[in-house]
Amino acid sequence: MEKKNLDWSNIGFTYMTTDKRYVSNFKNGKWDAGELTEDSTVVLNECAGILQYCQECFEGLKAYTTADGSIVTFRPDLNAERMMGSAAWLEMPIFPKERFLEAVDQVVAANAAWVPPYGSGATLYLRPYMFATGPVIGVKPSSEYQFRLFGTPVGPYFKGGVKPLTLCVSDFDRAAPHGTGHIKAGLNYAMSLHASEMAHMRGYDENLFPDSATRTYVEETGGANFLFVTRDHEVVTPASDSILPSITRRSLVYVAEHYLGLKVTQRKVKISELSDFAECGLCGTAAVISPVGKIVDHGKEICFESGMEEMGEITKKLYDTLTGIQMGTIEAPEGWIRKIL
Ligand SMILES: *Cc1c(COP(=O)(O)O)cnc(C)c1O
Repeated sequence: MEKKNLDWSNIGFTYMTTDKRYVSNFKNGKWDAGELTEDSTVVLNECAGILQYCQECFEGLKAYTTADGSIVTFRPDLNAERMMGSAAWLEMPIFPKERFLEAVDQVVAANAAWVPPYGSGATLYLRPYMFATGPVIGVKPSSEYQFRLFGTPVGPYFKGGVKPLTLCVSDFDRAAPHGTGHIKAGLNYAMSLHASEMAHMRGYDENLFPDSATRTYVEETGGANFLFVTRDHEVVTPASDSILPSITRRSLVYVAEHYLGLKVTQRKVKISELSDFAECGLCGTAAVISPVGKIVDHGKEICFESGMEEMGEITKKLYDTLTGIQMGTIEAPEGWIRKIL
């Protein structure tokens, strides 16, 4: 198979139209057979539920070329399950797990020429999503939906080297205590854009959102979970019912315990104890872990010992181990790698 002629190491994180995408429609109470299509446009009724009341959820995962030249995905079963949970919460029909996995396999195989080669640092980012296509004007769930999945190649996240991030403690809320913070829905992102633009304007990379009820505890950023390392190398991740259960964070916790022999604790983390940690990182599919060098809490600077030049020692070990598992140079736990080609 001939790869596309792209400068793989220099593509960014932007949408690029690839050859084939998967589409399945839900109508009269059931999903149709689904198929690959070359049509990258979506034509909708003007009153479609997604356009009026924002009934939508999505996922994000990657396909990798491993050291032996295989094309694989990383724990896509967890994306399938998480999307089932998001859909149920939004009163949308469930897209079955086996069908989700089949759609991932089909899209990756059909776009194999777009999967960046091993060693480039680039990957094929996959975006499964589901939205209400049926018309609704009275507020209620739609009766028709579309599941869609496309891929787009994305470049290495740390192009030009690692740059630890500077965050600010936000005055805005991301998720209400019994709201939608734990599901992957576009609506959580729509309302985070203002907070994110404000943070950028003030020179920060991201917001740290505290819990909305008490503004005392660390929740997450707009799109990544926190992971902290104490001075004696204990990994700590914030516990909350209103943060999105990141698959990367859950995988890093396993790696910390079973590969690196570290103690891991999931508990509520107070903003006031941030300065006790030695390292801080943001976990998500895009970067695996982005190191955080500094968090500014209303003028008070919290600087992590790992500094503004490089990843902390434990963060780096976690990063190297998980990316090694994804790229096939470190043996993966049973069931983590799904080989497609
Ligand atoms: C997608 C997402 C993450 C990261 O989850 P991964 O499964 O690791 O990619 C974290 N927080 C939010 C709000 C997200 O939407």
